[in-house]
Amino acid sequence: MTAAGRFAPSPSGKLHVGNLRTAVLAWLFAKSTGRDFLLRVEDLDRARSGAEAEQLRDLRAVGVSWDAAVVRQTERAALYDEAIARLAADGRTYECFCTRREIQEAPSAPHAPQGAYPGTCRRLSHAEREIRRATRPASVRLRAEVSEWAVEDQLRGKYAGVVDDFVLRRNDGVTAYNLAVVVDDAQQGIDQVVRGDDLLPSTPRQAYLATLLGLPIPEYAHVPLVVNHDGVRLAKRDGAVTLGDLAAVGIPAERVRDLLLESLGLPAGTLQAALPHFTPRHVPKTPWVWKTPRA
Ligand code: GLU
Repeated sequence: MTAAGRFAPSPSGKLHVGNLRTAVLAWLFAKSTGRDFLLRVEDLDRARSGAEAEQLRDLRAVGVSWDAAVVRQTERAALYDEAIARLAADGRTYECFCTRREIQEAPSAPHAPQGAYPGTCRRLSHAEREIRRATRPASVRLRAEVSEWAVEDQLRGKYAGVVDDFVLRRNDGVTAYNLAVVVDDAQQGIDQVVRGDDLLPSTPRQAYLATLLGLPIPEYAHVPLVVNHDGVRLAKRDGAVTLGDLAAVGIPAERVRDLLLESLGLPAGTLQAALPHFTPRHVPKTPWVWKTPRA
């Protein structure tokens, strides 16, 4: 299997210029290091009908191409089940019956990092578990043996963050993102993960889980997001931010592609032509402020 990078959008709506810039960066990182580039649709949750086709079309319109058939997470349940079964066989999972409210209201364990699951159901007796099973379907949590894990990020350096007993499968049966992403990246031969730096805090959990599953840890590069003029992460409400909106005000996809490349200090034109000018070390370390250009 050729080493690969990837872009893994959730088909919950249209991609905006921030998402497209991350995809362009992921493509440049992969291609500049001799890797294949793969596209994975993370449709386990929040999928909106028609969004996937639109997203793929918009990615192609800014020049992002991929080297194999698109993979969809909803078609890969067996792989996730198998990974959870392996963890369960090693005694690394437990059932959790907590509601969101119970988690919020539970006193947190001393020294537990903020936002960490308080461990309520980890300590249930067999009898208590039987009682709770009758009241609510269980989610499956990881029995973590660490509370922190460090990863190496190409842009951010060493990053240590929280690992708690995070959810592997929700109580509605949906596989959790943290489990699916780890299984998929390894199974697809993805050894380079380039994505928005909003996902950096999830990365220690994912790297720890990969270690437990005996899977290789990919190299990571978490790239700065695109923000609006208030410095807030770009969102649909920030005006013309999707290719569709921009086309409607007279700005074609090629122009958007050129703006994205220029924001990275690269020459306008095709991604292929920009490739020899791309150096991972020179990726801007600060968010890019989006201003809707004039047509
Ligand atoms: N599907 C996630 C998202 O769209 C990205 C996951 C990843 O790149 O690891 O936010």
